[in-house]
Amino acid sequence: MGTRGLLMVFTGDGKGKTTAALGMVLRAAGHQMRILVLQFIKGAWRPGETVAAEALPTVHWLTLGKGFTWRSTSSDEDRVLASRGWKKALEALTSNRYDLIILDELNVVLSHGLLDVSEVLSGLGQRSPECHVVITGRGAPKELCAMADCVTEMVPVRHHFQEQGIKAQKGIEF
Ligand code: ATP
Ligand code: MG
Repeated sequence: MGTRGLLMVFTGDGKGKTTAALGMVLRAAGHQMRILVLQFIKGAWRPGETVAAEALPTVHWLTLGKGFTWRSTSSDEDRVLASRGWKKALEALTSNRYDLIILDELNVVLSHGLLDVSEVLSGLGQRSPECHVVITGRGAPKELCAMADCVTEMVPVRHHFQEQGIKAQKGIEF
């Protein structure tokens, strides 16, 4: 029986979307699967996972140039970075070079209108049939959820920053 490539979406306002995707990276890496992690939004620090991934021989990790920030208004530079990132994603999706592709925070890019949703959906539809894709980030567009095989919404019940003002800590947030 051949592999049936799944399209999976992790969205919602609760914590755990990116780390759930990274859990899949770890799981797949244990099977020597070929993995690409493409990060559309770069955080303020170099997170532990990028360092750890260097020890995983089948994982290829790309962080987009300067990355995006959580801004309410989007600049031309954000748009350029988004298109550049999507170009890389599309190449990877159609290349047959990966068994699992993580498009981290692509939902945020889409919900900010930095990429055309229909263009992205059409690219996802063209991917190699055995390639699994995981898309993370708040605010997944409904058209993407409708197309996906698996959609999980992280529901915030309580968050240590909001409740107690506990700031980002190593191993937990980065
Ligand atoms: P993680 O990377 O920990 O899996 P995530 O990908 O689900 O989290 P994002 O939406 O990408 O979360 O947000 C990045 C960071 O913002 C998270 O590490 C998280 O701790 C923090 N965060 C998530 N929810 C809240 C919240 N309600 N209030 C404050 N900070 C939050
Ligand atoms: Mg995230």
